[in-house]
Amino acid sequence: MVDGSEPPETWNCDAIQYAEDRAVNEFKFVKNNGVFPAACFYVNGYRLWVYPTETFISTWDGKSTRAGETYCGTKRIFVGNRPPLESAFSHELAHAVEDCRDPDHEYWGADGGINEAIERARH
Ligand SMILES: [Zn+2]
Repeated sequence: MVDGSEPPETWNCDAIQYAEDRAVNEFKFVKNNGVFPAACFYVNGYRLWVYPTETFISTWDGKSTRAGETYCGTKRIFVGNRPPLESAFSHELAHAVEDCRDPDHEYWGADGGINEAIERARH
């Protein structure tokens, strides 16, 4: 579902679904305690907001500049308006799938290749 004010042309339902399918498909190959293979289950119910700018000020701390932000408690993803596959969308979906257990991505490079899956989804 798309909310927010006047998302750009490239952010339509088909583009979002395409980017989501790409990410979820690549997450199947991440063996992180069985969580990533169940990506469809974990992303269910999330709502997406697209800012009208490429970056935005974090609603978390009110001062950091962000290209994307995920709130697992309320199942919300916020992203800047770069095209879906070039944006932080896939990255934020990974946070959703792991239920925000590693907000600083400490293990994304080493444990299960999450960063690699995100990059594959974008190409
Ligand atoms: Zn992140």
